[in-house]
Amino acid sequence: MPLAESVARRLRSPDYDRWMGNAAATGYCSRPVRLVGSSTTLHGPTGEVLADYASSREPDGLTFTRCGNRRATRCASCSHEYKGDTWHMIMAGAAGGMKNVPEAVATHPMVFLTLTAPSFGAVHSTATDRRAGECEHGMPRACRCGHGDADAQRGDAVCADCYDYAGQVVWQYHAPELWRRFTISLRRELAHSLGVSQREASTMVRVQFAKVAEFQRRGVVHFHAIIRLDGVDPVEPFPPAPSFITTGHLVEAIGVSVKKTRVVVAPIQGDDTYRELRWGSQFDARAIVRRDGLDGSLSDRAVAAYIAKYATKATDDLEPASGGRDHIQRIKNTVRHLARFADPKGPYAQLHKWDGMLGFRGHFSTKSRRYSVTLGALRGARRAWRLNSLLDKTKQTDAVAADEILVVGSWAYAGMGWLTDGDKALATEAANAAREWRKQRAHDRNMPPNERSTT
Ligand SMILES: [Zn+2]
Ligand SMILES: [Zn+2]
Ligand SMILES: [Zn+2]
Repeated sequence: MPLAESVARRLRSPDYDRWMGNAAATGYCSRPVRLVGSSTTLHGPTGEVLADYASSREPDGLTFTRCGNRRATRCASCSHEYKGDTWHMIMAGAAGGMKNVPEAVATHPMVFLTLTAPSFGAVHSTATDRRAGECEHGMPRACRCGHGDADAQRGDAVCADCYDYAGQVVWQYHAPELWRRFTISLRRELAHSLGVSQREASTMVRVQFAKVAEFQRRGVVHFHAIIRLDGVDPVEPFPPAPSFITTGHLVEAIGVSVKKTRVVVAPIQGDDTYRELRWGSQFDARAIVRRDGLDGSLSDRAVAAYIAKYATKATDDLEPASGGRDHIQRIKNTVRHLARFADPKGPYAQLHKWDGMLGFRGHFSTKSRRYSVTLGALRGARRAWRLNSLLDKTKQTDAVAADEILVVGSWAYAGMGWLTDGDKALATEAANAAREWRKQRAHDRNMPPNERSTT
């Protein structure tokens, strides 16, 4: 069926409004999951039916639910929701005063850290070095061009023959382990900078962090992290560290740990050396300082908002933007080549799964256990909110406690995506319109991206 006809058919259908309402309820997900089934919400103790739902009463007899994909290239809507959750998770741990995290966390010693990968060869960049000589391939050893920020060539190898693609892939593959070793080292160095044993330090201070990975133009990740020091308390979830422990101790410990952290990794095919991996020499550790004055300086909240926004921006860049770049294609080819000859029982056995991520197998965002709320808790809160609004719609149930509610359902998977191309086009158009509307309403710069749409 031609697209226009498919669109027209939905527009003319008597249940168009209900269909559009259901599409809106998925957040105009681009590829929702189709389900058939029913569920009944009961008041457990009495067995009274509070709400009753069946997909057979919906348009086309189907229930649609979000795909939940966090990649913007797969689903703009779901990645947007994920981004909002990440924003809240990071923001709550840095500024407090939200999501059950007390405002006082903002007064704890706190640092914003950026860790980079080492160099794997000269790349085109905004910085130029005209004094550098030439390599054996007759190419300059550093970029001499003078690129602008938006230049498409930025991040590409100056000489693809000299560039250490294998070295970059190996580093990227082990980057999560490098981070893990860094956090272990940080605890040790913190004790050292406090002048106490590690055991003694563990009774008074805990290191909490949230970190996000972001792809740089050269196709390698770097990490942004908020690192916070808490005290130790058997009851309080976010106790302050003893007052003699300062941001200065944390900055010192970070500096030493960044330089000391090493991971020695097994050789790859065609190479019998054990590589020693470390962080790049460029790293940045900035104190996040609470300022209450009206002297025009940034408040801790604004700083945290900036960081959280900056950090969640990374979700856009999680998938390396190749844009047909030869440099990115070469990295992918290197991953595939190394994976093809990898020992199936060896450390690179899983490498083949990660060519799209240029060898990076880590999570986009990770946090220590007590940094803040979890993404799971945020999703749970949203589910509870949806359940409550459902109950509000059906009945006056002021006396019903949440733990007395029972949902009995039976569901079957009926496919992925909108039913027709016409439906997909309508959902996409509505999503675009909703985004425009949100942009116009985004008056408060401190609002998380996914909350700008709330009325
Ligand atoms: Zn989706
Ligand atoms: Zn250049
Ligand atoms: Zn060369």
